[in-house]
Amino acid sequence: MTDLIRSWVETANDADSPFPLNNLPFGVFSAGDTPRCATAIGDKVLDLSALQSAGLLPDHGFDTPALNSFMGKGKEAWADVRQTLTDLLREGAEQDVVKDALHAMDSVTMHLPFTVAEYTDFYAGRQHAFNVGSLFRDPANALPPNWLHIPIGYNGRASTVVVSGTDFHRPMGQMKGPQDDMPSFGPCKRLDIELEMGAVVGVPSEMGAPISVDEANEMIFGYVLLNDWSARDLQAWEYQPLGPFQAKAFATTISPWVVTKAALHAFRCDTPEREKELLPHIKDTGPMLYDIDLSVTMTAPGGAPTVICETNYNTLYYSAAQQLAHHASSGCAMRTGDLLGSGTISGPEKGMFGSLLEMTWGGKETLTLEGGETRTFIEDGDTLALHGHAQGNGYRIGFGPCTGTVLPAKGT
Ligand code: CA
Repeated sequence: MTDLIRSWVETANDADSPFPLNNLPFGVFSAGDTPRCATAIGDKVLDLSALQSAGLLPDHGFDTPALNSFMGKGKEAWADVRQTLTDLLREGAEQDVVKDALHAMDSVTMHLPFTVAEYTDFYAGRQHAFNVGSLFRDPANALPPNWLHIPIGYNGRASTVVVSGTDFHRPMGQMKGPQDDMPSFGPCKRLDIELEMGAVVGVPSEMGAPISVDEANEMIFGYVLLNDWSARDLQAWEYQPLGPFQAKAFATTISPWVVTKAALHAFRCDTPEREKELLPHIKDTGPMLYDIDLSVTMTAPGGAPTVICETNYNTLYYSAAQQLAHHASSGCAMRTGDLLGSGTISGPEKGMFGSLLEMTWGGKETLTLEGGETRTFIEDGDTLALHGHAQGNGYRIGFGPCTGTVLPAKGT
């Protein structure tokens, strides 16, 4: 475990700061002007376009409102920029040109950090798959027969991936309960979250060119927190035989900062032991998961946040590198800005489940929030927030917030 690298930005040296010099995540911000690329340090945002203009950083498109240009450059460029920023921000290296490029984090607006090329969502949490299979089928046959052999996924919508803080309207949709004769159309009644991490693809791959797990790992630029908002009643009616469609298409929230693979390097861990050997194209080749503490808070209108889930990314069955290798294995081209959702991250016990569907066991039990309000699924005005950090020796690597508030359905 590496130690804190001290910075002349004093707040970056606080043990509970999400953004020490060891982190250096990438995002896009504006300060009442044009959005451009930045890194976070302590309670400040550092304008990378200003450093690029001053010749301190190479031209990687940091003056554009998306990280895609930089993300597509690959691991040498990523490492060079990380080293330069570390040198510029290290304790004792203070200089005016860098100081002048700092903005107070609470005074800026954060934007979607990259243009999402395509969005794929996986289903790699074993406990989640077991819980959902038990709820909808049978605990004895909870895992689908393919689950231990391939990372199951579906192609989602890039168009409705939004940055933390973007509120959205409760989705409308078609649903049909088991007792109903006919389906009906109206506001979703069983609105849910899914606690996930998103892997962000930097380096693209060509159509017809499968990639190894190691190559896939090198293509990944970094990770974000990801909330796969889900309309359970729409999902139950529509999902067979082709999987989720409208139930997942209305909003997916990500954190504003992409935490790089380099920042997470000290927190690598192995996938769990396997009872079925994987086929060669997705076999583990090294530790490619990460030890990241995750939690979810729920806040009713006018209330205080209540922690409703605590778990860890290290519980997943497949790493993002395995998912990416599997994704490309047929010849599917992967693009700079592809976003891969991990699948819901549920730990093995109650209190560690990453969706309300599991926490309330299909809506049969209720959650009690601070202030005494109870919930099964999300009510209008509720705010859900994902939190995540890797705990180092005297420092932590954070992701920033991943929050959204649900507004009433449009037209109701
Ligand atoms: Ca999901």
